Amino acid sequence: MKVFESIETYGCEEVAFFSDGVSGLKSIIAIHDTTLGPAWGGTRLWDYQSEEEALTDVLRLARGMTRKASISELDVGGGKAVIMARPEQKTPALLRAHGRCVESFKGRFMTGEDVGIGVEDVEIMREETEHVAETKGFGDPSPFTAHGVVSGMRACAKDVYGSASLSGLKVAIQGLGHVGYNLAKELHQEGAQLIVTDIRDELTELVSRDFGARAVAPEEIYSAACDIFAPCALGAIINDETVPQLTCAIVAGAANNQLEDSRHGMLLYERGIRYAPDYVINAGGLIVIYMESRGHNLGETMEAIEGIEDRIGRIIAISKEHGRPTYEIAHQLADERILKKRKEREAGRAS
Ligand code: NAD
Repeated sequence: MKVFESIETYGCEEVAFFSDGVSGLKSIIAIHDTTLGPAWGGTRLWDYQSEEEALTDVLRLARGMTRKASISELDVGGGKAVIMARPEQKTPALLRAHGRCVESFKGRFMTGEDVGIGVEDVEIMREETEHVAETKGFGDPSPFTAHGVVSGMRACAKDVYGSASLSGLKVAIQGLGHVGYNLAKELHQEGAQLIVTDIRDELTELVSRDFGARAVAPEEIYSAACDIFAPCALGAIINDETVPQLTCAIVAGAANNQLEDSRHGMLLYERGIRYAPDYVINAGGLIVIYMESRGHNLGETMEAIEGIEDRIGRIIAISKEHGRPTYEIAHQLADERILKKRKEREAGRAS
């Protein structure tokens, strides 16, 4: 494994590897960029098949956090932590050991929940570090993430159908977990028609019952006739196999890293499908934690999340003006804000 080459590929500032023989902890913390502020990013616990896989994942996710914070106009940087473990290896001792690793950054890295790490696990880490997200105030970020996705969908609908209303539109949701369920709920209230799937039948049944959704098998969601496809389960689901199946005019959902490769963003663009870049549309959860940490109230927080509509609208407008795919425009805008800040800082030092 070429560690430095990988780090350079993703442009990461610092990567730390931790091992704790007592609890069995093996973790990696990546501080991607702190130009805008301390690095924020959740901790993922996953049964990685190799150290290389874990390193690539943490670097990719950390870079995504930098871009998400930057484009959302938050004054924080991006980072991420991964713990290499099977779910049954997640013990209080292991979580506390990870908390000590987080503490060693003395606030340069702040973490929270992610895949495999819940709110209750974060509370155990808190015994060792104060640098974990507060979850007591506004609570679970997932409904806020879903609300941001709805805002982003409005911008796409306005562009494609001439109206920001989602009423009457057919939305296919893949994954009905924390975000997907709340998204289905909001869209149902908006008058959208839902087509849903999950590998857990009980969730599909619940959403069908609660919101009158039509359930389809997991492999059928890509070809389901719809206006909007909303990926809310896994990453890399926009790929060579799925793009030709899509019937939608819009891809707008919460899942991280939806494009298997950037060229799949180009494929969507060439097919005339509007793609709401994932880290822009799914920033509601990060925004709520940020707003709470700065003492903002619920009204101000909702307003900030609803700003996702304008952000996606702007990205689509630039994409159309310059004939370039939306994911490229999002990267450019996110990276520009960081470069501008760096230049200001350097100019300040020089004067
Ligand atoms: P979750 O684990 O609660 O839900 C994911 C759901 O997807 C589960 O119900 C799972 O059964 C289902 N699923 C897994 N594989 C599937 C498949 N092949 N087909 C259909 N369904 C499948 O996760 P979540 O918190 O709802 O997050 C969903 C996505 O959004 C993830 O990619 C996450 O990284 C991203 N995200 C979440 C938040 C948040 O606030 N929770 C914020 C930003 C991004």
